[in-house]
Amino acid sequence: MVIDDSIRQQFPILDQQVHGHPLVYLDSAATAQKPLAVIDAVRDFYLKDNAGVHRGAHELAARSTMAFEHARSRVAALVGAEGQEGGEEIVVTAGATAALNLLATSFGNASLGRGGKAARRFALKPGDEVVVSKAEHHSVLLPFQELCYRTGAVLKYFDLDHEGRVLADTADQVITERTKVVAVTHVSNVTGAITNIEPIVRRAHQVGALVVLDVCQSVPHLPIDLHAMDVDFAAWSAHKMYGPTGVGFLYGRRELLEALPPASFGGSMVELAYLDRPASYMDPPARFEAGTQPVAQMIGAGVAADWLMDLGMENVAEHEKAITAGLLRLGELDGVRILGPTTPKDRIGTVAFDVQGVHPHDVGQYVDSRGIAIRVGHHCAQPVHRHFGLMASNRASTGVYNTVADTDALLDAVSGVRKFFRVA
Ligand code: PMP
Repeated sequence: MVIDDSIRQQFPILDQQVHGHPLVYLDSAATAQKPLAVIDAVRDFYLKDNAGVHRGAHELAARSTMAFEHARSRVAALVGAEGQEGGEEIVVTAGATAALNLLATSFGNASLGRGGKAARRFALKPGDEVVVSKAEHHSVLLPFQELCYRTGAVLKYFDLDHEGRVLADTADQVITERTKVVAVTHVSNVTGAITNIEPIVRRAHQVGALVVLDVCQSVPHLPIDLHAMDVDFAAWSAHKMYGPTGVGFLYGRRELLEALPPASFGGSMVELAYLDRPASYMDPPARFEAGTQPVAQMIGAGVAADWLMDLGMENVAEHEKAITAGLLRLGELDGVRILGPTTPKDRIGTVAFDVQGVHPHDVGQYVDSRGIAIRVGHHCAQPVHRHFGLMASNRASTGVYNTVADTDALLDAVSGVRKFFRVA
């Protein structure tokens, strides 16, 4: 299927004026807009089926549970995860940040001896190593850094090249016999660069380390097959893949989830609970889904996954390549520097840029006055900004609904910024 401008009709939010200009939304890396199919599914759920899942004998609870589990299977299908209905390898969380904290906390619990013998493979001790990259979002860096503080493990990192690419071919040096966990981004939310994960996964598995992949910025833009990529865990959020906020996913290889101890405790994850002995916990994914679940959000996420699969992820990637090429023309403007690869090869359309002499907040406000939404700041990734000698940047990012007219509007606006602020 060829994706053309008609797709915008499915996103009524885009059809509005901002400060007297047609809205140009170039902030999908922060959160994507939602197609009518997703909005309608959430509304329909509340109109017809709303109930808690996995408990209750009534019809609405049964319908809600079926819809929730069906949504899980659709999300699994989008990323090539397996299972009977397709979802046993997918844990529902509140988002990518929650998924990564879940994992790091579980590894910490295993390090305290929780989860018994089966969980020993996740345990860290002083002197063990955890490897991240300089390009990590704080949601990867901080949970695993805290895990190191709690266990005495040492945090190491992959360096980046001058275009911000993770130096994956240094894997043999960075990952050592002491490495237990490698947690890296598949696509940076600043540089847009796609990490060449193959040498990283190969080396990590050679030394028996687990690979955790942050796929927040790849799932909405690229065909993803987590089995083919051979990663052990992965995390992402629904709201960046055209689904609702408040829901995200932890993928784990089935046998790993089976051995992983829980991270949060409460209702719906326990088999037997006592006052005088430890509880026994359910099998995954329920073991990791304590409390009332985000049912409506999850149903919306399942519809978003189906919607993306109907478009075809190859088509999505192809469509966004043309828009990315348009955004990269920013680098041709006087005083504008792209922080990341300067050609569309091995990158997505998340393009961070610096306008020499103008603070990103000023750039953001200037383009907003023309109806253009971009993101400014450090984008929750300070180390990668330091790599480029900056504290903050501007970031334009694509979604399926963007057009060449959008990138032209941004280019036109940014070309006037330095003159407006009298630095050119
Ligand atoms: N990793 C990356 C690469 C991201 O872009 C984001 C969201 N900005 C996250 C992790 C965290 O996602 P969330 O805020 O939805 O939990």
